[in-house]
Amino acid sequence: MTLTSTDKLCKSLGYQFNNHHLLEKALTHRSVGKDNYERLEFLGDSILSFVISTCLYNQFPHVDEGKLSRLRATLVKGEQLARMARDLNVGDYLLLGPGELKSGGHRRDSILADTFEALLGAVYLDSDIATVHRLIENLFKELLENIDLDHATKDPKTQLQEYMQSRKLVLPEYEVIETRGEAHSQTFTISCRVSISPTLYTATGNSRRKAEQAVAAIILKEISGG
Ligand code: MN
Repeated sequence: MTLTSTDKLCKSLGYQFNNHHLLEKALTHRSVGKDNYERLEFLGDSILSFVISTCLYNQFPHVDEGKLSRLRATLVKGEQLARMARDLNVGDYLLLGPGELKSGGHRRDSILADTFEALLGAVYLDSDIATVHRLIENLFKELLENIDLDHATKDPKTQLQEYMQSRKLVLPEYEVIETRGEAHSQTFTISCRVSISPTLYTATGNSRRKAEQAVAAIILKEISGG
């Protein structure tokens, strides 16, 4: 395993590392050894979420928190991060153990997305929150500018309904299977069945509506393979 010169990567990232070891660590998969990117990924994941939350909060002053969190989810989902990692050619710089190398780990979405997060964690540790904030804003500039609010903020139940309709499938059926607690602090457990899966999905929430949305979100995640 040799590390390809990372000059180009730093250029496209728009950041020059002071501590090169951090960059190297961010590019090292666990199949190589113990000194890998996983702790940096942990950090980068929350930094990314924080920065994107701030951007969305400022960009959409009249959008409620439920929609904002759906918007954030579309921006930071693995598929999206893998795409950004590809734009930066992260795969060319990845350090992988022999097994992962053979099985094409440098092209795998999950590894690319995780490395992208690790890189952000590394930039943060190497600089400060303002620097990584600017960097993330730059990387996400186009995506943020092109957000289709109507499409991206449809609630999970509506999305699931439309998914089924567009495929001419039977619509999902929701049912309250349990109600708990006193009137003022009730929790509802809702089950949902969809024709494309044998699983009976369930979720709990402190209102019927919230529980339905939660179970729809679980199903959407499942059928979109995320
Ligand atoms: Mn991750």
